[in-house]
Amino acid sequence: MAHPTDDKNFRLPPDVRPSAYDARLSVDLEARRFSGTERIDLTLARPCDEIILHAAELELTGARVRAGGQERDAEVRVAPLSETVVLRLPSRLPTGQAAVELAWKGKMTDGLRGLYPAGGGIAATQFEAADARRVFPCFDEPGFKATWRLAVEAPRGPLVLSNGPPVGEEDLGSRRLVRFAQTPPLPTYLVALVIGPVQAHPPVAVRGVPVRTFAQPKKLALTGFAQDVAVDMLPRLEDYFGVPYAFKKLDQVALPEFEAGAMENAGLITFREVALLLDPTTASLAQKKRVAEVVTHELAHQWFGNWVTMSWWDDLWLNEAFATWMAYKSVDQWQRGWRIWLDFDQRKAAAMHLDALRSTHPIRAEIRNVAEAGEAFDLITYEKGGAVLRMIEGYLGEGRFREGIRLYMQRHAQGNAVADDLWGALGEASREPVTELANAWTRQSGFPVVRASRQGRVLRLEQRRFFSDPAAAAKESDGTIWPVPLVLRVGDGERTTEQRVLLRGATAEVELAAEGDPAFVFANSAATGFYRVAYDPATLAALGRHLGQLAPSERMALLSDEWALVRAAEREIAAFLDLSDRFGGEEDYAVLEDIVGRLAVVEYRLVADADRPVLQRFVGGLFRQQLAATGWDAARDETDAVRLRRAAAVRALGLVAREPAVVAEAVKRLDRWIAGDRAALEQNLHEAAVAMAARDGDVARFDAFRALFASETDPTFRRRYLLALAAFENPALAARAIDMAFADEVPLQDTASFVAVVLSNRSARDLGWARLRSDWERLHARLSAAPMLMRRVVEAIGALVERRRLEEAEAFLGAHPLEEARQAIAQTLERLRQDVELRERTQGDIGRWLAAR
Ligand SMILES: [Zn+2]
Repeated sequence: MAHPTDDKNFRLPPDVRPSAYDARLSVDLEARRFSGTERIDLTLARPCDEIILHAAELELTGARVRAGGQERDAEVRVAPLSETVVLRLPSRLPTGQAAVELAWKGKMTDGLRGLYPAGGGIAATQFEAADARRVFPCFDEPGFKATWRLAVEAPRGPLVLSNGPPVGEEDLGSRRLVRFAQTPPLPTYLVALVIGPVQAHPPVAVRGVPVRTFAQPKKLALTGFAQDVAVDMLPRLEDYFGVPYAFKKLDQVALPEFEAGAMENAGLITFREVALLLDPTTASLAQKKRVAEVVTHELAHQWFGNWVTMSWWDDLWLNEAFATWMAYKSVDQWQRGWRIWLDFDQRKAAAMHLDALRSTHPIRAEIRNVAEAGEAFDLITYEKGGAVLRMIEGYLGEGRFREGIRLYMQRHAQGNAVADDLWGALGEASREPVTELANAWTRQSGFPVVRASRQGRVLRLEQRRFFSDPAAAAKESDGTIWPVPLVLRVGDGERTTEQRVLLRGATAEVELAAEGDPAFVFANSAATGFYRVAYDPATLAALGRHLGQLAPSERMALLSDEWALVRAAEREIAAFLDLSDRFGGEEDYAVLEDIVGRLAVVEYRLVADADRPVLQRFVGGLFRQQLAATGWDAARDETDAVRLRRAAAVRALGLVAREPAVVAEAVKRLDRWIAGDRAALEQNLHEAAVAMAARDGDVARFDAFRALFASETDPTFRRRYLLALAAFENPALAARAIDMAFADEVPLQDTASFVAVVLSNRSARDLGWARLRSDWERLHARLSAAPMLMRRVVEAIGALVERRRLEEAEAFLGAHPLEEARQAIAQTLERLRQDVELRERTQGDIGRWLAAR
């Protein structure tokens, strides 16, 4: 007879709960095997004939149960589909306390989860979402929090780190046993181990908590920046939450092979190397921001996620949205000059792009199983969720929002919670209808476009769901509406004022608060809203005349909205190109970066081959003055604003316009830089210079970059030279790069990015696409224990913007479905179809617009 565990959607019954794990794990690093024993203390809410817990690819060698003063052996039934084992008992266990004692053997995985070889002789764990079960038999769902007392037996040499500080060590001859302090209650996905040759500088104590940052010994010099960030951020976060840091010590560890960006394991945070290590004298500002943001994100999780944990994966978004928002907010307060919210705005724009598809999902999605939990780690969960929290904070005000968060932290201390618990606490602290606002934004798919048309002092607003597919936009008004907290910026003479409106229905008319007839109105002040605005022609034209009175974030939002309307066939591309043309004199680097990125899309994806040189001349004309203003050499004490303005201009001229003189200058300076002259190339220019050198590069350049990839210690430079190998446009070298990708010369963690660069390379993509299809099964097997990376490979297919390729991609992915990437496949194909249609629809107009100039 079928057992409930013979179903991949099986969830553990709620009435058998673990309270404490006492486990011992013995690891054989050379044989890549381990064995373990553990005792789990349980509370039974009803009498039981069987106890069910998770175990995947573990061989159970012993299972005993103690209860009511008796001890008995259990019969073990393995249920592979749900990755559980059922311990069947000879007689029924009474309600109350019980314990199971288990012994098992297992193997390290070949991928990047469970206990895996993380490069450089290091073994590390990655358990989220549900891979603790590959190392320990356990109750592997986030709702089952319990304390962990862990002891690890390992060879004598390498360091052994876990969640708590070590509290004892036993000498076992050639091996040793390290005992760790008992943890506060944790869900299994936060338990962690790192064993291997890693090293840190002496700890810095922050309010009594020792903070350390680990890397391979040769990379120790690159740990200082991330260490400083953690030391600065820890007290800020303690003060914000009103709860002290709970995990006794804080270790950050860089791992040479890592699937995601970082993982917030309690007290032992693990990172991809590029997200933790850098040399401040050579790193770009973008790298510093990224490391600061990732470090802070993982620290925020120590409260939001680790101290109070989601009850089930359907509230994963709450963890990730909160950590995302908190990281940007904290880094912004720490380094005001970085204006890091503008970086968030770019990520948010990508989330809106995804959320305008029919195949999007609500922030709070139903999650039935582990594969679905894995797919939930996307832009909607992180960036849209973060943007919605930002919108709610903006609506409640900073102080009342923080009071609500503190209430939530106290009320659910060390326990589990659901989203409504947070909305309840925020509502209590603010006396505002937070639940209504939050649920509309988190439970409905998509977002609104707000049409805004002004006549004199009256602004007429109308909302409907926004779809980027013109056919969907025309057909499916869909009826969904949102409570939209709009903040208007009204231009009133020389000054501008803000005006708040909560748009509850489909339409509204607002009387603008201005002395006379306002000069303009911008309907998303500071660009904090997660909605688009479509202005009528006169209202838009008035904005175009007052761009200088808008904040940089608002100019970027305007570009982003207008571009989205072109995609949805609600605007002509000529109007967008006219608007771009107005930005030639733009001095703000963030806006410049944005406009360069958008013109790069036109150059790469839309323009006809015959018109490309004309477009390149247009881009060159637009930005030549920018580079003339900054020059190539950085002045002493130059500001970041100037450095990044130069970098945006060099990218526009070298990578989009492909001006030979700019390319030659960048490559010449790169060669001097590689030869050791660090002053030859300002540090924010290195990435673009490497890309230019690769595109034009010959075999000597290819071999030089390959050698640099092998010898470079700094992970960012190493990865940059590696990915550049996939960007060579010489056909023979493109073929060599493709061979490298499929001959496993590329590190596992970088495989998806490498394939993405191949498919974006005009000279490599046909060959790369053919090879991807012929080697699909092998690549899939290689990435089987790194499903996040397989999803990135699927997304990379979105670069093939031609109808013939779209049809091939539809046929191929239809014939090769992936359980772990169903959503990614649907979204990639929907987006690709729209991109192909956009290209076919706009190509002629772009040519005519260029010819008319
Ligand atoms: Zn996170």
